[in-house]
Amino acid sequence: MTAHDADVIVVGHGLAGLVATAELADAGKRVIVVDQEDLANLGGQAWWSFGGLFLVDSPEQRRLGVRDSVDLAWQDWQGTAAFDREREDAQPRRWAEAYVEWAAGEKRAWLHSLGVRFFPVVGWAERGGHGATGPGNSVPRFHIVWGTGPGLLEPFVRRVRAAVEDGRVRLAMRHRVERLTTTDGAVDGVAGSVLAPSGTARGVASARDVIGDFALRAGAVVVASGGIGGSHELVRQYWPERLGNPPEEMLTGVPAYVDGSMLGVAEAAGASLINRDRMWHYTEGIANHSPVWPGHGIRILPGPSSLWLDAAGRRLPAPNYPGFDTLGTLRHLRTERVSHQSHSWFVLTRAIVEKEFALSGSEQNPDLTGRDVRLLGERLRAGAPGPVQTFLDRGADFVVADNLAELVAGMNALAPDAPLDPGQVEHEVVARDREMANPFSKDPQVTALRGARSYLGDKLIRVAPPHRLLDPAAGPLIAVRLRVLTRKTLGGLETDLAGRVLRPDGAPLPGLFAAGEVAGFGGGGMHGYASLEGTFLGGCLFSGLRAGRGAAR
Ligand SMILES: Cc1cc2nc3c(=O)[nH]c(=O)nc-3n(C[C@H](O)[C@H](O)[C@H](O)COP(=O)(O)OP(=O)(O)OC[C@H]3O[C@@H](n4cnc5c(N)ncnc54)[C@H](O)[C@@H]3O)c2cc1C
Repeated sequence: MTAHDADVIVVGHGLAGLVATAELADAGKRVIVVDQEDLANLGGQAWWSFGGLFLVDSPEQRRLGVRDSVDLAWQDWQGTAAFDREREDAQPRRWAEAYVEWAAGEKRAWLHSLGVRFFPVVGWAERGGHGATGPGNSVPRFHIVWGTGPGLLEPFVRRVRAAVEDGRVRLAMRHRVERLTTTDGAVDGVAGSVLAPSGTARGVASARDVIGDFALRAGAVVVASGGIGGSHELVRQYWPERLGNPPEEMLTGVPAYVDGSMLGVAEAAGASLINRDRMWHYTEGIANHSPVWPGHGIRILPGPSSLWLDAAGRRLPAPNYPGFDTLGTLRHLRTERVSHQSHSWFVLTRAIVEKEFALSGSEQNPDLTGRDVRLLGERLRAGAPGPVQTFLDRGADFVVADNLAELVAGMNALAPDAPLDPGQVEHEVVARDREMANPFSKDPQVTALRGARSYLGDKLIRVAPPHRLLDPAAGPLIAVRLRVLTRKTLGGLETDLAGRVLRPDGAPLPGLFAAGEVAGFGGGGMHGYASLEGTFLGGCLFSGLRAGRGAAR
């Protein structure tokens, strides 16, 4: 028998892989980290992320007057996940419960001890709108890391680099894993192709020229290889019927290396792959004016005020408002009458864009990412934040006009295959504006706007004072063409709470562990059908810890 090259091999140098590696190294294990990309991409998707983390009953929430509890969070999680599969939701449900407990317990203190700090205003993602037991967050829980994604990665990169320096960890970059090797039914290594050095900048798709092959052996393998969002082919293949047909045209919200290749590799070695039909894509995607990866789209993190119209100019029904119910809105757009169209529209005002538009991604938030307090102050001043203004000036999906007729003409120039009837758009805008005359309304979106402003965080930086869209003082008018943006994979390798990958018969597949998005963030789909947001990075942390500790045993 060949000697082992390491105690453990970790596949993937994203957040989940780094967390697992840091745990393994601290436990005195020798680790090889294998990744198909080079060091320029260390940290994977998390580097690009906004750094939003789901925390429950935090000091930040309490300071803003938010009363949260583990019971409320678990109520929200269950209403959102809607677990309904006896076999395929058994492990995910266990993971979800453990994760919510952790998010309400030691998660923040642990991160704090590693030097992670949070922006003081807690965001309110996925506001729901379906009632207390339905999907969505009852309260704001989206805690933005001071330093966004790169800030969250820092302590783990530091720990792994220190372990590299003292010889506990070896980094094998440009190694693409194509097989898991087994002996007597136990996984004991990885094999695949060595790719030519790439030299491309972070996030840019690298070449796949093969210059050799490799095989490495170890006592255990941790797979932390991310999801399928970079492969439209896989997204289309597993797109669930309940969401209608996949759009003909989609933007891509993740780098090309999020290719899902390890899912098939692990399955071929005997792993159980579950809940593949569960995925999380955004409906508020816009084309990046300066794309880094192929088809690069940015997600607008919208405040709740924009009027949302389908491709035929009809307002989306309650509660499909901006930032309320991501997959509910996607389902509506893909299954209603205009489902052959790939786009929808926000109609708003300058006043709304200035206060309510945020863009997801570390590079779109230089103030938070760079921990730049002076730049951050600009968010409170009049005018759109710099990155949003750049989209207004250069974004392919934006129309700015002084009146509605000009606005609709601009929208029709952008989407000539689905011309809007100006009368229909005017009908929706004017009807909504009439609901603004009183401090109360029958319109649930208008009522929600007024309600949101009783949360201090929303009033300060997120929800514009309610106003008529046709109020010239709030103008000019703006329309934004939105397209579906692929992002997250909710199903994946089935794991138990120790991070061990299971076989289809429910028994552990000896030697194989998984963490992060490839494991559906734990269990093979701890989110069930949908997420409360900020749970993906947190899921990488939690499952990375579990798999790292599990594989160290
Ligand atoms: C723009 C953006 C904003 C986001 N914002 C948030 C947020 O605010 N909050 C939140 O919770 N989540 C957010 N996310 C999601 C979150 O960042 C990801 O889900 C998470 O980082 C995934 O981490 P991972 O370690 O599982 O996988 P990845 O980061 O995808 O890393 C996987 C690694 O495995 C490697 N790999 C894959 N296959 C192979 C193979 N066959 N051989 C060798 N190597 C392989 C890849 O090259 C990659 O480096 C965001 C994501 C993006 C892109």
